[in-house]
Amino acid sequence: MSALRTAIRYGAYPGLLAGGLLILWLLLSNGVDFAWAPYAAVAIIGPLILVCEYIAPFRPDWRPGPQDFLRDAVFMGVVQVAVPLAMIWAATLLINGALVSNGWTFNLWPSSWPILAQLALKVVAGDLLRYWLHRLAHTWTPLWRLHEVHHSPQKLYTTNVFRFHPFEKSLQFLCDTLPFMVLGIGTEVLAYYFVFYSLSGLLQHANIDIRLGSLNYVFSGPEVHRWHHSREVRESNNNYAHSFVVWDLVFGTYFRPKDEKVEKLGLLDETYPDTFMRQLGAPFRNAKPDADAA
Ligand SMILES: [Zn+2]
Repeated sequence: MSALRTAIRYGAYPGLLAGGLLILWLLLSNGVDFAWAPYAAVAIIGPLILVCEYIAPFRPDWRPGPQDFLRDAVFMGVVQVAVPLAMIWAATLLINGALVSNGWTFNLWPSSWPILAQLALKVVAGDLLRYWLHRLAHTWTPLWRLHEVHHSPQKLYTTNVFRFHPFEKSLQFLCDTLPFMVLGIGTEVLAYYFVFYSLSGLLQHANIDIRLGSLNYVFSGPEVHRWHHSREVRESNNNYAHSFVVWDLVFGTYFRPKDEKVEKLGLLDETYPDTFMRQLGAPFRNAKPDADAA
């Protein structure tokens, strides 16, 4: 194995995650606006993840084709950029209009803590709410119908992470961002959170031969998350965590068999639509109550 592949295998996950946070710190320290700096940090590190995926794939047969990238790009623009921007705009209006203007402010967030401590608190607390939303999405049919979009790909690679139904993305915002805005979390912490959350999501789905060793008990990286995309419900109804695995460990849903590899991915429903527009309407189709969800 080449030295470069070895470096990617052991260094890509921690190196790129830390690199993104470092770039954000440099940009903010040099006066770049909070509105742009997080996007710039992710835009610099994101392509490096794709390069690592090309050089050191976990499964060469999971490489995406041009049509896959095109579909992922549409999901990225609509679901990962337009929807969050609209939600932040609406949430800011709501908080300023309904709370701040009436003198109801909840400055409960520990803003005096060091930024990395605030980031860790945000990730762990946000992950708890997201854990239960995600777990419910695998056990309650109406939510599963939305979440199916994310599980529809039959191969796992970086830009799969963009594939969510806009309604589910909105529910995620209500769990992992709005409550913290109401509590008074600072813009700077949200900027660091955006970079950490985005890069850990991209890396979690990456088709890179990453080896995290004992860090698999800290981060929900690809070695853990691949099992969540298995077509076998017994395997996929586990590993709900987004960034840290703490809540999977606490609630007994951590699944990482040491000597096995995940086989087929995707949905049991082989007639599931595969275009962006059809997937937007898929949760409302007349689907038979199949056994994809638990
Ligand atoms: Zn899921």
